Amino acid sequence: MIQPTIGSGGTHCPYCAMQCAMDLVVEDGRLATAARDFPTNRGGLCRKGWTAAEPLSSSVRLLTPLMRDSRGAPLRPASWDEALDAVAAAFRAAREKGGPDAVGVFGGGALSNEKAYMLGKFARVGLGTRNIDYNGRFCMASGAAAGNRALGMDRGLPFPMTDLPGAGAILIVGSNPAETLPVIVQYLEEQRRHGGQLIVADPRRTATAQMATLHLQLTPGTDAALALGLLHVALRDNLVDRAFIEARTTGFGAARRIANAYWPERVERITGVPIAQLVQAAHMLGEASTAMVLTGRGPEQQSHGVENAHAFINLALALGKVGRPNCGWGTLTGQGNGQGGREHGQKADQLPGYRSLANPEHRAAVAAVWGVDPDTLPPPGPSAQELLESCGSPDGVRALLVMGCNLLVAAPQTERLRARLEALDVLVVCDPFLSETAATADIVLPVAQWVEESGTVTNLEGRVLLRHCLSPPPEGVRSDAQVLKALAERLGRGAYFTADHRELFEELRRASAGGLADYAGITWERIEAEQGVFWPCPSEEHPGTPRPFLDAFATPDGRARFFAVEHRPTAEEPGPGYPMFLTTGRVLGHYNSGTQTRRVAALNAGDPEPFVEIHPDVARSLGISEGGMARITTRRGEAVLRARLTRAIRFDTLFVPFHWGGRGGANLLTNPALDPTSRIPEFKACAARIEPA
Ligand code: SF4
Repeated sequence: MIQPTIGSGGTHCPYCAMQCAMDLVVEDGRLATAARDFPTNRGGLCRKGWTAAEPLSSSVRLLTPLMRDSRGAPLRPASWDEALDAVAAAFRAAREKGGPDAVGVFGGGALSNEKAYMLGKFARVGLGTRNIDYNGRFCMASGAAAGNRALGMDRGLPFPMTDLPGAGAILIVGSNPAETLPVIVQYLEEQRRHGGQLIVADPRRTATAQMATLHLQLTPGTDAALALGLLHVALRDNLVDRAFIEARTTGFGAARRIANAYWPERVERITGVPIAQLVQAAHMLGEASTAMVLTGRGPEQQSHGVENAHAFINLALALGKVGRPNCGWGTLTGQGNGQGGREHGQKADQLPGYRSLANPEHRAAVAAVWGVDPDTLPPPGPSAQELLESCGSPDGVRALLVMGCNLLVAAPQTERLRARLEALDVLVVCDPFLSETAATADIVLPVAQWVEESGTVTNLEGRVLLRHCLSPPPEGVRSDAQVLKALAERLGRGAYFTADHRELFEELRRASAGGLADYAGITWERIEAEQGVFWPCPSEEHPGTPRPFLDAFATPDGRARFFAVEHRPTAEEPGPGYPMFLTTGRVLGHYNSGTQTRRVAALNAGDPEPFVEIHPDVARSLGISEGGMARITTRRGEAVLRARLTRAIRFDTLFVPFHWGGRGGANLLTNPALDPTSRIPEFKACAARIEPA
């Protein structure tokens, strides 16, 4: 028997950036999810969504704070007052030793807009530290930087996902939405049914690549060369839209000169993509009356991730397929609030509304809302990886608060990170579960899950959505906002903060007013009545902006910018001792670091353990058999994983999903080499060897 839960109104999935609409119901005495019809998911959920209620009543859920009496002592239950007092005392002690920057804050792209906003304000006003960043730096930073520079605005999809079926051709590069955003596949299927062409560029023949008209199985790390080769063919074969370039862009000449040097034979040598496929793809995109180019973490999580994204933006601009109906470049956000989470101030260099912490006018505008002197706001701080690298060093972060992130699974080179975290004076983790990171913490604070509090999130197309509180948190659990408010009070800054999510959103609206990500006109009532509102939305009379670039780009002169970028090799190329590429990604059954999904029985049954994909011919030559254990070694560490032999992967490439910690953790192996602009680590390509374990 299915009954509604005590709350009213619906919610949205706690996992990916589709943010499918759902209800929470009681089915045979247990909480369960039910799909809700909505313009985005149209009544669909994937297996993660169908099982999303299970972690709410998990038997391993944390219901009381935990703390250690000394380093190395076991975690023991504590009262909230004892734990919060200890956190505040540790933060004060760290500040006495190293000043305000000795306390660091690390957030997450799954936090609601209200919590992301509050965390940024807590760092700048509550702690006065410049050391705050979040796991979106590991995810969306390259696409965001390229979008901001080329188009003037970082809106992951600058069009509603319902526009996808109207595109005559779609190129997806380094993204596997069939597993990472499964419900979006209905739009790709519709596009194919309408006669559209789908091109997928990926080193693996993924579930998405299997849907495609054309699969370009490129060598890892050669994305920019592929884009330049496509542009070269488009120029050669008169597929570019010169009128569009003239009217709406700048900088084409320099980009064209570089593309001229990427003739098909050269691009085939670099990428491994046959010339015939390169030419076919360029013609599909160029000859379609409408087309989209969508990049994912494949090209973006590289030490040249921003340039890679620019190369594909250049291609879309040259074809005149941006800023027009059913056209555009977009970047497919993965995390649940990956879009909103990067708009309101938990990034190292950013203030609410996508304002810059380095801009005096932006600082003054936000400081006025916060009621503080702008000069008291700290300057921009280091990026996520650099912040983590500083942990435990005399001049670095001595005390770290982690909220909404499982670093010891999600960050690169996790064993080195573990040593850095152990060198801290205190590590504080807010989490509903004893994640790998929480298990190493000195103090663990049990916090509410998604449906236990109201708040907004912004999906991958920039639509702001409202989640209602439908089930109260269990006794002993508090919201992240209550934790921050309580800490601010103990640090003498409580008057600046509210823990009420509705009040936080009203404050966020004011703080974002006039910024790029302007939420001033968005109210919870409007979100409810209009099934979400697209930002920017500067006033309550404004309809919202589903397609921001139709008339002009968000740059000062309204024109999109070409960036003259070259192909550059990844920081590590295969060679002696490490002859293969290792790349990482996700599987259908799990979300990010798996903190929730690895605790769902049905999901674990489908994807119970980490694995390595390897081509059978390569495996045979090395004595590795299907289901046997294999050891992968990189310059940073080794992992032991079960081998899956598949002809869907290139001969020179290994693939490991990153949802697990322990001996099978993909991020034991990954390279922390950073992109110079976005500071994203190079998760997507490093040199590795494999042997039987
Ligand atoms: Fe929808 Fe993503 Fe949740 Fe699946 S995981 S139900 S696609 S929001």
